[in-house]
Amino acid sequence: MTQRTFAIIKPNAVRSALVGEILRRYETARLKIVGAKLLHASSQKVAGFYAEHEGRPFFPGLVEFMSSGPILVLALEGENAIADVRALNGATDPAKAAPGTIRHAFGPTMGSNVVHSSDSPESAAREISYWFSADELFSYEQKSSVADV
Ligand code: UDP
Ligand code: MG
Repeated sequence: MTQRTFAIIKPNAVRSALVGEILRRYETARLKIVGAKLLHASSQKVAGFYAEHEGRPFFPGLVEFMSSGPILVLALEGENAIADVRALNGATDPAKAAPGTIRHAFGPTMGSNVVHSSDSPESAAREISYWFSADELFSYEQKSSVADV
Protein backbone atom coordinates (compact mmCIF):
# COMPACT_ATOMS: atom_id res chain seq x y z
CA MET A 1 0.00 0.00 0.00
CA THR A 2 1.35 3.42 -0.93
CA GLN A 3 1.57 5.53 2.20
CA ARG A 4 3.30 8.59 3.59
CA THR A 5 5.59 8.84 6.57
CA PHE A 6 7.40 11.64 8.34
CA ALA A 7 11.13 11.72 9.04
CA ILE A 8 13.69 14.10 10.54
CA ILE A 9 17.40 14.29 9.86
CA LYS A 10 18.50 15.43 13.32
CA PRO A 11 20.83 18.40 14.04
CA ASN A 12 24.02 16.37 14.52
CA ALA A 13 23.53 14.69 11.12
CA VAL A 14 22.91 18.02 9.37
CA ARG A 15 26.00 19.44 11.10
CA SER A 16 28.06 16.41 10.05
CA ALA A 17 27.04 16.69 6.38
CA LEU A 18 25.12 13.41 6.36
CA VAL A 19 22.00 14.79 4.63
CA GLY A 20 22.98 13.55 1.18
CA GLU A 21 23.95 10.08 2.41
CA ILE A 22 20.70 9.62 4.35
CA LEU A 23 18.51 10.90 1.50
CA ARG A 24 20.35 8.58 -0.88
CA ARG A 25 19.41 5.61 1.30
CA TYR A 26 15.74 6.64 1.32
CA GLU A 27 15.64 7.32 -2.42
CA THR A 28 17.46 4.07 -3.20
CA ALA A 29 14.71 2.28 -1.25
CA ARG A 30 12.15 3.83 -3.68
CA LEU A 31 10.88 6.43 -1.25
CA LYS A 32 9.83 9.69 -2.90
CA ILE A 33 10.41 13.05 -1.22
CA VAL A 34 7.01 14.75 -1.15
CA GLY A 35 8.00 17.40 1.40
CA ALA A 36 11.37 18.74 2.64
CA LYS A 37 12.42 21.76 4.70
CA LEU A 38 15.55 22.80 6.58
CA LEU A 39 14.58 24.67 9.73
CA HIS A 40 15.76 25.51 13.25
CA ALA A 41 12.89 24.53 15.57
CA SER A 42 12.24 26.26 18.91
CA SER A 43 12.26 24.18 22.09
CA GLN A 44 8.48 24.76 22.31
CA LYS A 45 7.94 23.35 18.82
CA VAL A 46 10.09 20.29 19.60
CA ALA A 47 8.37 19.73 22.96
CA GLY A 48 4.98 19.69 21.24
CA PHE A 49 6.24 17.27 18.63
CA TYR A 50 7.53 14.85 21.29
CA ALA A 51 4.57 15.42 23.66
CA GLU A 52 4.07 11.64 24.06
CA HIS A 53 7.45 11.51 25.87
CA GLU A 54 6.84 14.46 28.22
CA GLY A 55 7.77 13.55 31.80
CA ARG A 56 10.28 10.87 30.83
CA PRO A 57 13.84 11.39 32.13
CA PHE A 58 15.34 11.87 28.67
CA PHE A 59 12.74 14.47 27.60
CA PRO A 60 14.60 17.72 28.56
CA GLY A 61 17.80 16.55 26.85
CA LEU A 62 15.87 15.45 23.78
CA VAL A 63 14.19 18.85 23.47
CA GLU A 64 17.51 20.67 23.96
CA PHE A 65 19.27 18.49 21.39
CA MET A 66 16.53 18.71 18.75
CA SER A 67 16.43 22.51 19.02
CA SER A 68 20.24 22.90 19.00
CA GLY A 69 20.54 23.55 15.26
CA PRO A 70 18.90 23.11 11.87
CA ILE A 71 17.03 19.89 11.13
CA LEU A 72 15.70 18.56 7.82
CA VAL A 73 12.02 17.59 8.08
CA LEU A 74 10.79 15.18 5.43
CA ALA A 75 7.55 13.71 4.15
CA LEU A 76 8.30 10.47 2.29
CA GLU A 77 5.96 8.40 0.15
CA GLY A 78 6.19 4.80 -1.00
CA GLU A 79 4.97 1.24 -0.62
CA ASN A 80 4.95 0.48 3.13
CA ALA A 81 6.80 3.74 3.73
CA ILE A 82 6.19 3.78 7.49
CA ALA A 83 7.73 0.37 8.23
CA ASP A 84 10.39 0.74 5.52
CA VAL A 85 11.78 4.01 6.87
CA ARG A 86 11.76 2.62 10.44
CA ALA A 87 13.72 -0.39 9.11
CA LEU A 88 16.20 1.78 7.20
CA ASN A 89 16.75 3.92 10.31
CA GLY A 90 17.28 0.94 12.66
CA ALA A 91 16.70 0.49 16.38
CA THR A 92 16.38 3.56 18.62
CA ASP A 93 19.60 2.65 20.45
CA PRO A 94 22.39 2.73 17.84
CA ALA A 95 24.29 0.12 19.86
CA LYS A 96 21.44 -2.31 19.12
CA ALA A 97 20.77 -1.22 15.52
CA ALA A 98 21.35 -3.86 12.85
CA PRO A 99 24.28 -3.57 10.45
CA GLY A 100 23.26 -1.75 7.31
CA THR A 101 20.90 0.64 9.10
CA ILE A 102 21.44 4.40 9.35
CA ARG A 103 21.66 4.39 13.15
CA HIS A 104 24.17 1.52 13.08
CA ALA A 105 26.31 3.38 10.56
CA PHE A 106 26.21 6.82 12.18
CA GLY A 107 25.04 6.33 15.81
CA PRO A 108 26.34 7.89 17.85
CA THR A 109 24.13 7.59 20.98
CA MET A 110 20.50 6.95 21.95
CA GLY A 111 20.03 10.66 22.64
CA SER A 112 21.46 11.77 19.31
CA ASN A 113 20.55 8.95 16.97
CA VAL A 114 20.68 10.90 13.70
CA VAL A 115 17.13 10.29 12.42
CA HIS A 116 13.46 10.17 13.42
CA SER A 117 10.56 8.48 11.66
CA SER A 118 6.88 7.88 12.38
CA ASP A 119 5.85 4.62 14.05
CA SER A 120 2.22 4.27 12.81
CA PRO A 121 -0.25 5.66 10.25
CA GLU A 122 -1.77 7.83 12.99
CA SER A 123 1.55 9.33 14.03
CA ALA A 124 2.59 9.80 10.39
CA ALA A 125 -0.55 11.84 9.68
CA ARG A 126 -0.14 13.88 12.86
CA GLU A 127 3.60 14.48 12.35
CA ILE A 128 3.32 15.47 8.66
CA SER A 129 0.64 18.04 9.47
CA TYR A 130 2.60 19.22 12.54
CA TRP A 131 5.52 20.32 10.34
CA PHE A 132 4.04 20.90 6.87
CA SER A 133 1.18 22.92 5.46
CA ALA A 134 -0.80 21.42 2.58
CA ASP A 135 0.90 23.65 -0.01
CA GLU A 136 4.33 22.36 1.06
CA LEU A 137 3.45 18.77 0.07
CA PHE A 138 3.68 17.44 -3.49
CA SER A 139 2.77 14.35 -5.42
CA TYR A 140 3.89 13.05 -8.78
CA GLU A 141 3.85 9.88 -10.81
CA GLN A 142 6.54 7.35 -10.01
CA LYS A 143 9.28 7.54 -12.67
CA SER A 144 11.83 4.81 -13.08
CA SER A 145 14.69 7.03 -14.24
CA VAL A 146 15.64 10.66 -14.71
CA ALA A 147 15.17 10.24 -18.47
CA ASP A 148 11.48 9.42 -17.95
CA VAL A 149 10.70 12.59 -16.02
N1 UDP B 1 15.31 8.59 23.63
C1 UDP B 1 16.34 8.67 24.57
N2 UDP B 1 16.35 7.76 25.60
C2 UDP B 1 15.39 6.80 25.73
C3 UDP B 1 14.37 6.72 24.77
C4 UDP B 1 14.35 7.63 23.73
O1 UDP B 1 17.21 9.53 24.46
O2 UDP B 1 15.46 6.01 26.68
C5 UDP B 1 15.29 9.55 22.50
C6 UDP B 1 15.85 8.96 21.24
O3 UDP B 1 16.66 9.94 20.61
C7 UDP B 1 14.63 8.65 20.42
C8 UDP B 1 13.63 9.70 20.87
O4 UDP B 1 13.96 9.94 22.25
O5 UDP B 1 14.89 8.69 19.02
C9 UDP B 1 12.19 9.29 20.76
O6 UDP B 1 12.01 8.05 21.43
P1 UDP B 1 11.20 6.85 20.77
O7 UDP B 1 11.04 5.80 21.80
O8 UDP B 1 9.96 7.39 20.13
O9 UDP B 1 12.22 6.29 19.66
P2 UDP B 1 12.20 6.35 18.05
O10 UDP B 1 10.76 6.31 17.62
O11 UDP B 1 12.90 7.64 17.65
O12 UDP B 1 12.98 5.15 17.62
MG1 MG C 1 9.14 7.39 18.26
